[in-house]
Amino acid sequence: MTKLAIIIPCYNEEEVLPETALRIYQLLVQLINRHMISADSYALFVDDGSKDRTWSMIEDLHHKNAAFRGLKLSRNFGHQNALLAGLSHADDAHVMISIDADLQDDLSAIEKMLAAYERGYEIVYGVREDRSTDSWFKRATALGFYKLLSMMGTESVYNHADYRLLSQKAFAAFRDFKEVNLYLRGMIPMLGFKQTAVYYKRDIRKAGTSKYPLAKMLSFAWDGLTSLSSRPLRFVTVTGGVVFLLSIGMSIYALISYLSDATIHGWASTVLPMYFLGGIQLFCIGLIGEYVGKIYREVKQRPRFIIEEHLKGDPFEAIEHR
Ligand code: UDP
Ligand code: MG
Repeated sequence: MTKLAIIIPCYNEEEVLPETALRIYQLLVQLINRHMISADSYALFVDDGSKDRTWSMIEDLHHKNAAFRGLKLSRNFGHQNALLAGLSHADDAHVMISIDADLQDDLSAIEKMLAAYERGYEIVYGVREDRSTDSWFKRATALGFYKLLSMMGTESVYNHADYRLLSQKAFAAFRDFKEVNLYLRGMIPMLGFKQTAVYYKRDIRKAGTSKYPLAKMLSFAWDGLTSLSSRPLRFVTVTGGVVFLLSIGMSIYALISYLSDATIHGWASTVLPMYFLGGIQLFCIGLIGEYVGKIYREVKQRPRFIIEEHLKGDPFEAIEHR
């Protein structure tokens, strides 16, 4: 029977954790009773260096019931690394489903994901049917971002965040992706295998506040873009080429003006290209710098997460023996 691990990254989630744990527990029991998953299935909470009571709550949950496991990272490594840490410590399960701690993603989609897995899919994306619970700003920026990504030649699953099922086989393949700059939702589609999506309605956060304020969201988007595609660098080259062509035109114009004795009115044509070229050059140097920075981080091969503690129960203590 299928052994399921639900991976939940948590960063300062004390407000919502009790409710999340309860709902996930109910779901596990329900799926076990219906023989969709094995009785030693579990939920793994990954504490991503929380500063509040999140970890002590996870410990309590684990001591009450071994179906709750816990993984404590030594500091805040960020959502994507926390997810990777969780997945890497759940490979005893046949399938892993990652979900946010705030219950925004409808838990009932898990059953649909499992059904797809039974039909032979190795990767199942949870996709938001509508985003009416997100602010117009988040919707607009998200849409712009997907458009930009596809312009840059990267396929990503529209309206899919990190709510997804990965089979053991798919994750084993993913382990060969050694990069430090993680953008899972853009990398997983590259794995291949049989993939599909299930749809659900996204709710509002049940409690607590978003752990992705605007600046963090923008930086995540930028990381995604530059990790997945080097096409922005192509854009730099093309811009350089266009400016070069324009400057040939300018030279011809200057030569003609000189030959026809109309030279002195040259202030605007001197100053404007200066600003224009200066701006473009700074932008391009910055962009190249971003990639150099990424290469710098990649070559160092630092660990993507560090584990401080791992609470994993004896499988025989799991739900049925509660
Ligand atoms: N998260 C994390 N580390 C971080 C930031 C966030 O593990 O540094 C977790 C967070 O606890 C939540 C998930 O990532 O489970 C998504 O965060 P959130 O719901 O705040 O993002 P939003 O839905 O607002 O985009
Ligand atoms: Mg959320």
